[in-house]
Amino acid sequence: MPRARGRPLGGALDGRHPSARRVAGLPLGLRRRRHGARAPHGLGRPGRGQGEPARVPHPPAPRHRLPPSPRRGRARAPPPARPRPVGSRLLVHGLPAELPRASGAAPRPARPRRPGHGLGLLRRGRAGHAALRRRGGRRGGPRAPGAADAAARGPPGAHVSATGPLRAGAPAGAALAAALAGEAATYAAKRREIAALRARCRAQRVVVLTFDDGPSRELTPRVLDVLADHGAQATFFALGQRAAGAPEVLDRVRAEGHEIGAHTMNHRNAWRTPPWDALRDIREGYGALAPWVATDGRFRPPHGKQTGLTRRAVRRRGAPVAWWTVDSGDTHTQLPAPDAVVRRVLAEGGGVVLAHDHGAGRPAERQEFVLEVTGRLLRAARAGGLHVRPLRDLA
Ligand SMILES: [Zn+2]
Repeated sequence: MPRARGRPLGGALDGRHPSARRVAGLPLGLRRRRHGARAPHGLGRPGRGQGEPARVPHPPAPRHRLPPSPRRGRARAPPPARPRPVGSRLLVHGLPAELPRASGAAPRPARPRRPGHGLGLLRRGRAGHAALRRRGGRRGGPRAPGAADAAARGPPGAHVSATGPLRAGAPAGAALAAALAGEAATYAAKRREIAALRARCRAQRVVVLTFDDGPSRELTPRVLDVLADHGAQATFFALGQRAAGAPEVLDRVRAEGHEIGAHTMNHRNAWRTPPWDALRDIREGYGALAPWVATDGRFRPPHGKQTGLTRRAVRRRGAPVAWWTVDSGDTHTQLPAPDAVVRRVLAEGGGVVLAHDHGAGRPAERQEFVLEVTGRLLRAARAGGLHVRPLRDLA
C-alpha cells in the first residue's frame, strides 16, 4: 500500500465512505503541491488517469493551502557573492597622504595591460590623492615650500606612472609594484634625514635660517639687511631663472658670507613632473647657478618632493639634500602668528627654518611676515642661547 510520509492511507482509500476518499485526497494533493513530483505515483496526480484518485475532485479551497516551507523542497541556491576588492583603500588610508601607495595595494594586473595604461594610472593616481587630501589625509610633518605649495602638493602616483615606460620589458603589475616600493623607500629616507637633522640641531643648539625661491630685488636685500643687523649668516636656495634676472643680488648674498644652494631652474615638483623634465630642471639649475653654486653644492628639492630618480641624480653629483624641520608658514594660505614659529623653534631646541625671499608679485604682508619672523627668530635665538649658522656650519 502506498504511503505518504509513513502514514497509512488505508483508512481513506479502502472505500468505506465516499467522502473518505475526498478527504483522503486533501493531504495527498497538498503534499503533491508541496513536494512536487515526489508525491506517490498515481495518487497525487488527479486528472491524469493514473489510479483511483483521478476521480477525486481536488479541493481548490485556498484556505487549505499551506505556505511553502523554506525547510522543505529544493531551496534555490543563493547567487555566489561577488568578490569585493579589499585592501587598497584601507592601505592607502593607513599611510600618510604624501606616501606613494604601498606595494600591497598596487597590483591591478588587468588594467595596466591595456594599451596606454600609463596615462590611465596617472589619472587614477591624481584622483586618489585628491580624495586623500579632501579627507585630510596629510598627517603633520613639514609643509612643502613654494608659493604654490598648497596646490602643488603632489600626487604620489604621477611620477610612478611616468616610470612605467622605462620598465616596458617587465609585466606591468610587477613594474608598478617595484616602482612604488622604490618611491616608498625614497620617502622613508627623507623622513629619516629630517629626523636626523632635527636631532643635530637640537644637540648643537643651532638655528639655521634658509630662504628659498629667490633672489629678488624686492625682498632679498631687506632680508640681508636684517641678517646683517644681527651679524648672522643664512643659507639661500636660489632658482636658476631668478638668479639670471637678479645676479647682482646673488653677488651680494655671496659677498656677505651667506651660503647659496641650488633649488633647480624652474621649481618643478618632481612628483608632478615627468622624470626627464625633473632631471633636466636640476641640471639646468646648477648650470644657471654655476657662478655662485658648486656642482656639488647643497640642493633643496622644490616643494620638498623628490623621487628615486631625482634623489640618485643629486647624489651622483655629490650634492647633499637640504631639508628643513620648521616651516615658517609664509606660503600658507593663512599666515601663522610670527611668535608661533619662534616658540616652536625654541621648543625644539633649534632647527632649520624654511622661509622664502622671492618678492615679485608677492603680497606686501607676506614679505613683511618674512622680515618679522626673521628678526624675531634672531632675537629669540640670542636670548635663548641658540647659535644661528648656515647649513654648511652644521656639524
Ligand atoms: Zn621652493
